Amino acid sequence: MKKVGFLGLGIMGAGMCKRLLGAGFHLTVYNRTPGKARELIELGAIEAKTPAEAVSNSDVSITMLGDPASVKEVILGKGGVLEGIRKEATHIDMTTIDPNTTRRLSNAFYQKGAYFVEAPVTGSKLAAAAGELVLMAGGEEKDLERVLPVLKPLSKKIVYMGEAGKGALMKLVNNLSMAGAMEAFFEGMTLGRKAGLAPEKILEVLNHSALASPLLKMKGEAVLKKNFETHFSLKHMAKDIRLAVTEARRLEVPMPVTSVVDGLFDIAKSQGLDELDFSALVQVVEKMAQLPE
Ligand code: NAP
Repeated sequence: MKKVGFLGLGIMGAGMCKRLLGAGFHLTVYNRTPGKARELIELGAIEAKTPAEAVSNSDVSITMLGDPASVKEVILGKGGVLEGIRKEATHIDMTTIDPNTTRRLSNAFYQKGAYFVEAPVTGSKLAAAAGELVLMAGGEEKDLERVLPVLKPLSKKIVYMGEAGKGALMKLVNNLSMAGAMEAFFEGMTLGRKAGLAPEKILEVLNHSALASPLLKMKGEAVLKKNFETHFSLKHMAKDIRLAVTEARRLEVPMPVTSVVDGLFDIAKSQGLDELDFSALVQVVEKMAQLPE
């Protein structure tokens, strides 16, 4: 289990690949846009020209892509992972996608004589680079156990959720909870500021209140400084909330707050905030409140 194929060298994938190289794996990488593998090649990785090529010599392969459409394209498309994967190799999808797509992928790999595990992650750019992600794994437990040597250098905790699709669902639960909490924080901050409270004091109190959390610690200061450098892009959080709302409708679970947050992300996208960090959503709230910049 020394040969790993890794597809998707974005914000998360790049840091994860460095962890795998550091742990001694032979890594073959693929990225749609050329040039992103340069640093990894210097560290010993090999670059493949197609997804099929990236996995054809690997015991384990990993996708860390954008959304369900990109995962379907890279895995099921022409020259895709499914064309190249060896029998008895295991593919792990770590992208945040919907449970239905995850189940479909799982079936496709088993039909090919390969194995499939899902392991969406929580933790952002810095946690990816430090190997401190939390993984929500799904699939056959024995298949997960076999790939633990590859997942452990990437993570500080792995929680097995059940059959394929359960990890994806858990990831949506995680992100809708996070986005709702952050939106409430943005509204509170905007109300406080418009009423004349000092933003630093608001944050100081919240960081010492029962609301204090790693998330608030990470994003609060950045929001005060209007530093929206992308750790987790707004477009991806918007995608996750849309997937959560769609899943909730399918299961007839009313989610009024998350539905409003979904609409706010649409407004943010229409204002060109897609590529910024998702905390840039605060700017939509501030604009609606006519808060001077
Ligand atoms: P990212 O920086 O946008 O990277 C996305 C990667 O997917 C890039 O390598 C991109 O290739 C590739 N890709 C997108 N569409 C593609 C397509 N149609 N065909 C082939 N490749 C395609 O995203 P990220 O922040 O690393 O996040 C990756 C996944 O993890 C997302 O599902 C995200 O929701 C989830 N996630 C992110 C975070 C975070 O904090 N960033 C945390 C937890 C989970 P190009 O270079 O060619 O565009």
